[in-house]
Amino acid sequence: MADKITIGELHLSGCTGCLVTLADNYEGLFKLLDDYAELVYALTLVDVRHVPEMDVCLVEGSCCLNDEISVEELKEARAKSAVLVAYGACAAYGNITRFCRGGQWNQPGQEAFVPISEVVDVDLYLPSCPPCPQAIRNIAVMAYLLLKGNDEQKQLATAYLKPLMQLAQRGNEACGCDLMYDVINQGLCMGCGTCAGTCPVRAITMEYGKPNVNRDLCIKCGACYSQCPRSWFNFDVMNNYEGIIDAINGAMK
Ligand code: SF4
Ligand code: SF4
Repeated sequence: MADKITIGELHLSGCTGCLVTLADNYEGLFKLLDDYAELVYALTLVDVRHVPEMDVCLVEGSCCLNDEISVEELKEARAKSAVLVAYGACAAYGNITRFCRGGQWNQPGQEAFVPISEVVDVDLYLPSCPPCPQAIRNIAVMAYLLLKGNDEQKQLATAYLKPLMQLAQRGNEACGCDLMYDVINQGLCMGCGTCAGTCPVRAITMEYGKPNVNRDLCIKCGACYSQCPRSWFNFDVMNNYEGIIDAINGAMK
């Protein structure tokens, strides 16, 4: 086995739920840590106080612009990481922290919470609140193959990660309205219901075969658009589904 990659988790204004999804891989997490990745930073799990150099940094939570330490740590993580991942909806899109207005004891001035891409360049998005355990496992395996694999494995990992990189380029605003603007209004919706199934707060109902979003319930997590098969369906990945599954299953044996 070649060298492991180094992975860290920077915790900003998040709830630790994203980190829990990593742990929800159960034995799979031990396999990842045994064979592929060394966890070099994560204040919840590792007694390392300062941001180290990392191959991959998973950033959980949005960034509070009124908190100087958060801003500085995020910039430091960017400078010290080869790949910076917005891990979960808060980091990618702001999510529930989009609704912050400050005024609460004991930091009433903390009112500006933004997606991390407002502060630093982000390489890859893993949206949803929370992301699913398999998704973060797959990204860890693919990051390993990308950085340590042979040419064929590098090619596979590049194809797998590309859509998530493209999602990071698309922007940092998310809402159930994305389904209207970017899918239904474009004549792309096929009424499959994936968006309704993926919404964590059940803000989407299917009516007459098309999604209807209750915007009072929407927490702006970005899951519906990113999971919609008519949003950024990637044929490079889907046409190689079996090869990708084989690579991941083989790695996790
Ligand atoms: S997931 Fe996309 S294609 Fe499917 S119903 Fe929702 S908007 Fe339409
Ligand atoms: S409608 Fe649901 S899945 Fe879509 S952004 Fe809002 S909360 Fe997230």
